[in-house]
Amino acid sequence: MLAIDSLTLGYGGKVVVADASFTLAAGEIGSLLGPSGCGKSTLLRAIAGFERPLGGTVSMSGALLSTPETVVEPERRQIGMVFQDVALFPHLDVGRNIAFGLRGAAKAAQRRRVDELLALFGLAGYGERMPHSLSGGEQQRVALARAMAPKPALLLMDEAFSSLDAELRQTIVPEVRRILKHENMSAILVTHDHDEAFAMADQVGVMDAGRIHQWDEPYVLYHLPNSKFVAQFVGEGQLIQATAIDERRLRSVLGIHSVHAGHSIEPGRTVEILVRPDDIVHDHASEIMGEIVEISFRGSHYQYLTALENDERLLCIAESHHKHTAGDRVELLPKLEHLVVFDDAGVGTTYDSTLDTFLRTLSAKPFP
Ligand code: ADP
Ligand code: MG
Repeated sequence: MLAIDSLTLGYGGKVVVADASFTLAAGEIGSLLGPSGCGKSTLLRAIAGFERPLGGTVSMSGALLSTPETVVEPERRQIGMVFQDVALFPHLDVGRNIAFGLRGAAKAAQRRRVDELLALFGLAGYGERMPHSLSGGEQQRVALARAMAPKPALLLMDEAFSSLDAELRQTIVPEVRRILKHENMSAILVTHDHDEAFAMADQVGVMDAGRIHQWDEPYVLYHLPNSKFVAQFVGEGQLIQATAIDERRLRSVLGIHSVHAGHSIEPGRTVEILVRPDDIVHDHASEIMGEIVEISFRGSHYQYLTALENDERLLCIAESHHKHTAGDRVELLPKLEHLVVFDDAGVGTTYDSTLDTFLRTLSAKPFP
């Protein structure tokens, strides 16, 4: 549906997005995720047709829309846009706001589409309300309904939920995802919030300093990040040291990691590996001890920050009925299925591996 190919963008000769490439299938939701100033809005505006590329192309449904030579105007792209600051027409009621992009269609068809969207957004009966009488969340729903009304091929949302409070975001983001899926509408959400990107999107591109580090499913970004930047930006976790023993195995404080297909790390070399909080659970079966440094209650579970004997730190999940306090020593059982290894340049490689760890049932430690 959408293909971004080696797109380079800039202002006054200064490059702010370099060599961006990704594709989005019809009905799929994407997200551009990254810190402020990394080039997300610039990339979104180029997709909408407001920026001329310095290099590369934007295509939709096989048609070239942007090249350094020609840019098809935004009005001719079948694109809807929603921004952080809601800009409803203050003098039009909700129904007329939503119908704005439907001018030209028969009145009955307009009314049907407006009623359908009001129902989808939980705003049935709101058609004659004026924008100023709505809450922030209701106004943003109307803005989304207005952008979706003409059934654009692609809906672009730039920080569309960032001005809403956290609690409201938690309900509206999955709600909008359901509506987009119901409408089978492709969409891209720009955001700096990884929870929001993960809750909304099928595919997420993690950006930093004008570069897309990785474009992948949320699960892959979280568990198989291709760079230290992605690992740190999309979730919590710790980096610990692992030393290559031979061309298949590495040793860390967690035990011996056997890489099924072998690795290319020189024996004797030490690298960093990624350990997510959910890779470690508190379980008495383990012999690995950590001292709790910090406890954070997460409702369904606790997360402990623990210090190991070699001073490395690990985050660990414990069930919420467990009662421990800082300073307690607890058993840490690793549940690592993949081994994510970072080289000195911060580039990540993921290996399928098995971990032999230190269990209480073992009488002797069978490790070299
Ligand atoms: P993000 O949306 O990720 O916060 P932007 O795409 O808005 O990032 O900005 C990326 C970079 O481009 C920033 O350094 C910003 O200052 C610069 N920039 C954005 N818009 C313009 C503009 N119209 N003219 C010049 N520089 C701009
Ligand atoms: Mg922006």
